[in-house]
Amino acid sequence: MLDKIIELDKNYYMNTFGPRTKLMFTEGHGINLTNYDGEVYKDFFAGIAVSAVGHSHPALVEALQNQVSKLLHTSSVYYIENQALLAEKLCQKTPFDKAFFASTGAEANEGAIKLARKYFYNKGEDKYEIITLNKSFHGRTVTTATATGQEKYKAPYAPLTPGFVHVDANDVEGLRAAISPKTAAIMVEVIQGESGVRPLSHEFVSEIRSICDQNDIIFIVDEVQTGIGRTGKFFAFEHFGIVPDIVTSAKALGGGVPIAAVLAKDFVASAFTPGDHGTTFGGNPLSTCAALATLDIIEKENLVANSLEVGTYFKNQLEEKIGYACSEIRGKGLMIGVEFKEPIAKAVVAKLIEHKILVGAVGDTILRIVPPLILTKEDADGFVGTLLNILKEEF
Ligand SMILES: *Cc1c(COP(=O)(O)O)cnc(C)c1O
Repeated sequence: MLDKIIELDKNYYMNTFGPRTKLMFTEGHGINLTNYDGEVYKDFFAGIAVSAVGHSHPALVEALQNQVSKLLHTSSVYYIENQALLAEKLCQKTPFDKAFFASTGAEANEGAIKLARKYFYNKGEDKYEIITLNKSFHGRTVTTATATGQEKYKAPYAPLTPGFVHVDANDVEGLRAAISPKTAAIMVEVIQGESGVRPLSHEFVSEIRSICDQNDIIFIVDEVQTGIGRTGKFFAFEHFGIVPDIVTSAKALGGGVPIAAVLAKDFVASAFTPGDHGTTFGGNPLSTCAALATLDIIEKENLVANSLEVGTYFKNQLEEKIGYACSEIRGKGLMIGVEFKEPIAKAVVAKLIEHKILVGAVGDTILRIVPPLILTKEDADGFVGTLLNILKEEF
């Protein structure tokens, strides 16, 4: 059966992902994913930091089944009950005043960039430059690929969106030097995910906040990957003692159903007026139902606290047991990067798959561990034990 699907994929799907890992899951429960042949895998990747409440959580399934049988989509031309309730919930849970819903992380970041530029447009100020960091990842649309601080994602798509400036993470002097009278916003991931789980320094993040305050610059934090409890706080910026002006969220927000959010303080959110921005699918009855149910489960099961507790335990166990093979183990909560001394990451991922464990690799040296937030210490022990055996036997 898998051979047939691989053949179809090869013949009919644009070759953006191939050759893929030769697995095809047909069912999931909790942190388990079942392959088409009945083999069960432990999921420490959660579909790239998405499936926060695990697979097929009964409360999420029930909420979605109920919603699907009633109504999927109406467009934001009309009022949408779940959309308003979700906006209220997110604003009550966080320091932000207004929400806008989109469908993907890139689309949320586009919205944040447009909002920052519109804010200065309304004020009649010629401020449009957005400063982002090298090694960042903000999405794959032309503008968010331009924002992304990695050449490989944008070189083929030139000419890129004008007005983007990149500086090194944690380089306060470099950042200060990049500020100009045209700077509209500074946009960062406080823990860079896609490039290998790289936390910014506390000093750098507070410096960004003061630079923004002193120069009337909008501070945007991209929490598409780090948000919704992933790092052991609802938003990762809480670890840094600052509040940005705009935050974006996506991946985990809908528990697997595509939904993204732009959350903003009133002073900047009010820059959007009717007709300025929009989207067909964003915040429709189905996706906002998924987000409401996901947030409800995260609250009832204390999954933000679980992420912190199990994540801290997990990281300590990794340091204790396999630290000898690593140059660094970093991250917060259940967002952990393991950087090996040797370029073995891809081979380790392949070996882990043989042992029925799924995890991501970044380049040749880094493992990215972003499991569902329902992970237990026993699950973490299982991972660490298997990884230790693999390292001892194979490398
Ligand atoms: C995944 C990711 C994005 C892009 O999200 P899509 O839903 O793939 O568009 C943007 N920013 C960060 C930090 C991400 O991890």
